[in-house]
Amino acid sequence: MARKSIRAIFPGSFDPITNGHLDVINRAIKLFDELIIAVGRSPVKNQLFTPEERVEIIAELIGDMPGVSVESFDGLTVEYAAKKKADVILRGLRSLTDVQYEFQLAMTNRAVAGIETVFIMTSEQYGFTSSTLIREVASLGGNLSNLIPPGVYERLKKRFKKLED
Ligand code: ADP
Repeated sequence: MARKSIRAIFPGSFDPITNGHLDVINRAIKLFDELIIAVGRSPVKNQLFTPEERVEIIAELIGDMPGVSVESFDGLTVEYAAKKKADVILRGLRSLTDVQYEFQLAMTNRAVAGIETVFIMTSEQYGFTSSTLIREVASLGGNLSNLIPPGVYERLKKRFKKLED
């Protein structure tokens, strides 16, 4: 019997997208037929890039990866998932601290909308990478070239003149 094709959404702030997120995306495309990277438009503290810029950055990175797309969304993730007829929500895990929060979020989303969440664990090398830390280190002029894609680093350098080459 032919398997139903599976569409996943990967919601997040992605401010900015990191190698950790990309690692999760590269693993996810082996499991799902369609993956929509969904940039939340809800205001985040210390926003670095606008939602439009984040979408543009991600679009450049995914290029023409088959089955992968990016867009932004407003409001509740579960409502967006229903609108897109997504079968699952994808989230990445780095540590046990993530598990605690993500577990609650996934249980709530299942309770309110009946949607399953699938978790993918990051590679060990990105277990400590977070967009928040990237923003902080960038503002202080640290070298981030191992943690974010080169295109993202170039944009960060434009924003924070102190950053090294
Ligand atoms: P949010 O604000 O919704 O947590 P993020 O952009 O910070 O948005 O993260 C989106 C998803 O990617 C979350 O599931 C988060 O746990 C996961 N994630 C973030 N950084 C990493 C990483 N380095 N490795 C794996 N998953 C990650």
